[in-house]
Amino acid sequence: MPFLSTDRLITIDHYIAEEENLHPDASGDFSSLLHDLTFAIRIISRDVRRAGLNDILGITNSTNIHGEQVRKLDKYSNEVIKKTMIQGGNICVMASEEEDDIVPVNSESKHAKYVLAYDPLDGSSNIDVNITIGSIFSVYQRLDQSAKGAGTLQDLLQPGYKQVAAGYALYGSSTILVYTTGHGVQVFTYDPTLGEFLLTNQNLKIPSKGRLFSCNMGNYYNWDERVRQYVDYLRMKSDDGDRPYGLRYIATGVADVHRTLHYGGIYLYPPDLNNLEGKFRLVYEANALAMIVEQAGGRASNGIVRIQEIVPQNIHQHTPLFIGSKLDVMECELFLQGNHPAQLRQF
Ligand code: MG
Ligand code: MG
Repeated sequence: MPFLSTDRLITIDHYIAEEENLHPDASGDFSSLLHDLTFAIRIISRDVRRAGLNDILGITNSTNIHGEQVRKLDKYSNEVIKKTMIQGGNICVMASEEEDDIVPVNSESKHAKYVLAYDPLDGSSNIDVNITIGSIFSVYQRLDQSAKGAGTLQDLLQPGYKQVAAGYALYGSSTILVYTTGHGVQVFTYDPTLGEFLLTNQNLKIPSKGRLFSCNMGNYYNWDERVRQYVDYLRMKSDDGDRPYGLRYIATGVADVHRTLHYGGIYLYPPDLNNLEGKFRLVYEANALAMIVEQAGGRASNGIVRIQEIVPQNIHQHTPLFIGSKLDVMECELFLQGNHPAQLRQF
């Protein structure tokens, strides 16, 4: 086995502690919270990999049983994060894709100052076929820092620009953790032999323009005409050779955004006739992805305003999502506003 590169010896716990040192008023609670979260992600990573194996063994069973297994894993991942965070004592209230209502946490022993929103398993319909899935999280401070006991719904309905940390884990060919506290985007790769996340990409930047687009083309005829025009434009040959764009689509939102973060281009989930407000959930999916992509120099909007400026009205609120390279998302917004670039008018 080759030696581990000595450039790769920064663990996530070490990195978080160093970052906390930048804030003299920090109490250590934030480091402790992130430590708990990465512990939960380690557990999910291990069990997701086993569940994939179980699904392969279970293929002879009916489709219903497959569906049930996946649902169990969604629920299991939810429980792992919920219980780990409750035990940690730094979270006063949570929202999860798998919980109908908010989860207030009344910590007796600690003065919990943070709020967590999470999607325990994104793209879980892909687990049967061994395709990348992930977990997404957003951390906020509670509104009233002097308050004691459990947090409230209002603590969870803060706009995304108030996130103090956001990130996601991807359970792909390796498990990685992409995270930001508002000082750039750091990528950690999990080394299962060490049981540690090691820093593998510091201050990741998204290209300002890409050559790829990502969307569910099956919805084409269910989209608004302006969205169709934009996607048609991406598929048209341009004189400068920039287009046509290539199409990539995994159907795990977090994985599609992750690829876009590395290669540039745009990921879009517009409203369609079946999902009039789009399909992404603002509070525990879109806000975290938007913070990561913006911290990497990209852009994320609902077509009209920045995702992170939307004030949520409820924890399960949907939003359209246009996210990726700054120039690509800006161009898409021009189409959505009815201002087509000259090339399109010639078409
Ligand atoms: Mg989910
Ligand atoms: Mg999801």
